[in-house]
Amino acid sequence: MPQTAKKEETKMRNNDKQTTEKKQKRSYPFYAIENPIEHDRIPVFIKTMGTVLRDEKYRLLLDLYLNTCASCNSCAEQCHLYQVTHERKDLPAYRSNMLRAVYRKYFTRGGRLLGRLVGAKELHEEDIDAMIESFYRCTMCRRCAVECPMGIDNALLTRIGRCILGELNLAPKNFTVSSAQELKGIGNTSGIPKEAFMDTLDFLQDEIKDMTGHKVEFPRDKVGAEYMFIAPVSDYIMEADTLMGTAMALQAAGTDWTIGTSFYDAINYGLFYSDGVTSDVLNRLLTEAQRLKVKKILIGECGHATKTAKLFMDVFGKYRFPVRNVMEYTAEAVKDGRLKLDPEVNQETVTYHDPCNLGRGLGIYEAPRAIVRAATKHFVELQPNRERNYCCGGGGGSVTVPDLYDFRMNLAGAKKVEQIKSSGAKYIAAPCANCKKQLKELVEYHKLPVTVVGVHDLLIKSLVY
Ligand code: SF4
Ligand code: SF4
Repeated sequence: MPQTAKKEETKMRNNDKQTTEKKQKRSYPFYAIENPIEHDRIPVFIKTMGTVLRDEKYRLLLDLYLNTCASCNSCAEQCHLYQVTHERKDLPAYRSNMLRAVYRKYFTRGGRLLGRLVGAKELHEEDIDAMIESFYRCTMCRRCAVECPMGIDNALLTRIGRCILGELNLAPKNFTVSSAQELKGIGNTSGIPKEAFMDTLDFLQDEIKDMTGHKVEFPRDKVGAEYMFIAPVSDYIMEADTLMGTAMALQAAGTDWTIGTSFYDAINYGLFYSDGVTSDVLNRLLTEAQRLKVKKILIGECGHATKTAKLFMDVFGKYRFPVRNVMEYTAEAVKDGRLKLDPEVNQETVTYHDPCNLGRGLGIYEAPRAIVRAATKHFVELQPNRERNYCCGGGGGSVTVPDLYDFRMNLAGAKKVEQIKSSGAKYIAAPCANCKKQLKELVEYHKLPVTVVGVHDLLIKSLVY
């Protein structure tokens, strides 16, 4: 063949290849994904699962849960999502079985030899797609774990599934972009430069002075303070009242505290999809506490940030600090008389939403209630509450994924809407950035006659000087 004809043929072949590849490019209808894996997904999934399972704690958990699930479906009766959709993909045990079947097939001797006879299943492309959808419909709220007779935590299995998908770049773009911004970019998930952050702190100080007449400071970079306070950075944009109430309480209680200005974002999306990100973000936070030589860390009103700092420090942390949620601190100050609150100034009926990560995740039930009761005249409980409370519907990070908006408003948040309506409350206090965002969106979408606030917001009016 002449040289030119040969070149032409190669060019055509390349064009054909590119067209086929383009045709094969997958679309992910559930949520936007940045640079997803396109080819060889099955072998890469199995290899990645093998890598994740080298971590002894995950292998032990899968082994344990694999052998103990009684298929009783008590978990389904507890799941706020399944109760609304009644779809198979939302059955907690069915979702976990997707992972278990692959584990059995490729990582157990019995599964390799006996296949379906022992619940093992070969992995197909459609199984991976089903996992991408199903693992992000679970809000990781752990309500199903409360009633499981075998003590199985399906939310943990969801997290393992998400971690495997995360290693394959099959996580929502909002997680990966925000985490990259926090770790490699400007240093926080909202992209707030340090100068703007400092201006915001000044602005909040001025606001408190205007509202109350009192001079309250947001101390910065104080070396050797007892507490380093760190909140989700989104609070500085969206939850000024929570931050002002917090600063007022800390100052009034005589707290030796500071904010770090080299790292000031408690958000850690790693909890929802990646051990690597969890560890890296947590270590940035701990490094800031180490730089300031503080004695303890105080996390603001945020469920997942508190849970990550409290539970993962022993596993991933470069440094160790005692960690408290700010509500534990404030409740203690109210109890021992360092803070005086006047409930008469908050006369409207107030209810309280237990964020899943603070409640079922960490057992923080009574501290926030003690503050709300001391600061308001009429408190009513949501029914059910405490460990049986329903997720706001935006848990597991789903509140940050715009493509899941309809799902959150109409399905995942449906039980929460019922609860709020029947409470008759005019205010709902929710001490978590993610819960507040979801609840505010639910209130607007369903036109509920209620206002969403943080717990410390209630202190602005009720604090007695
Ligand atoms: S409640 Fe527990 S044992 Fe029963 S199906 Fe669910 S995970 Fe399995
Ligand atoms: S963790 Fe929550 S959303 Fe997920 S299966 Fe359990 S109850 Fe349902």
